[in-house]
Amino acid sequence: MVVDIHTHILPENIPSFAKKFGYGGFISLDHNCKGCARMLRDDVFFREIQENCWDPEVRMREFHGHGVDIQVLSTVPVMFSYWAKPKDAHEVSKFLNDHIGEIVERYPNKFEGLGTLPMQSPDLAIMELKRCKKIGLKGVQIGSHINNWNLDAPELFPVFEACERLNMAVFVHPWDMMGASDMSKYWLPWLVGMPAESSRAICSLIFGGVLERLPGLRVAIAHGGGSFTSTLGRIEHGFNVRPDLCAADNKFPPSSYLGKFWLDSLVHDPKMLDHITDYVGENKVMMGSDYPFPLGELNPGQIIKSMDWTQIKKEKVLGSNALKWLNGF
Ligand SMILES: [Zn+2]
Repeated sequence: MVVDIHTHILPENIPSFAKKFGYGGFISLDHNCKGCARMLRDDVFFREIQENCWDPEVRMREFHGHGVDIQVLSTVPVMFSYWAKPKDAHEVSKFLNDHIGEIVERYPNKFEGLGTLPMQSPDLAIMELKRCKKIGLKGVQIGSHINNWNLDAPELFPVFEACERLNMAVFVHPWDMMGASDMSKYWLPWLVGMPAESSRAICSLIFGGVLERLPGLRVAIAHGGGSFTSTLGRIEHGFNVRPDLCAADNKFPPSSYLGKFWLDSLVHDPKMLDHITDYVGENKVMMGSDYPFPLGELNPGQIIKSMDWTQIKKEKVLGSNALKWLNGF
């Protein structure tokens, strides 16, 4: 069983939220080309996508061709809308979650779904989380920070608590990259900012005591946890020499949380895949490809299959770890 936990999907048509809510910033799709669409934000080009971004039949043909059995669907992070008015972000979330819910229902055993939440309003987020569970989604995807809240913000704790209580998995995806406006050339927000965002998220969850207080919370971080494992020595040393700064809210060292959260396998490098798997353990890495985007693993699972690992270890990372993360057993 091969499960790809990191894939993004959009509805084929997105209503004009800007018109509906009376202000801009939302993504729309321009289908004026055959088999593709242009994602626009307030009429400014953001990204071109192909029909595999919205058509489940095309997706199934492609992922079956890659030997994948199940895709876990989540929205594209640019759709989070954390910056919008809470009730409007809630409406966008409902629209996206219903779309994913319908696909999961229509194609059982082919797709699983992660919802999106209006995290800027924890009350609405919990309300939507409950609805996500009701419509058959297995968890949610959230950003690496929520506007100016890091994931340790006390305001967000009730949302994590609800995820634990409702047995909903949490996938943390980097977005709204730090420093992006200072490094617009060379795709640096994606190449430098995203790995830093993932580390920011893990450090916030550890230092803020979120993982400590919610041992049943199942959190996975995208892109192999970004720069976290490769800079863990520094993070641990910082914790030891400046407990006044780092241990203010949680007295347990960062390294003691290895094996208590999940990472996806998207590191594009067999040596690094070995490294992250050594760090968090073979039960806590799951195949994730970032399908259908070009910065993802274009042949999902290929690097895992090429590893000099036992068959059992490969099977865990390719699929069985993901089923446990999604279902909680
Ligand atoms: Zn992604």
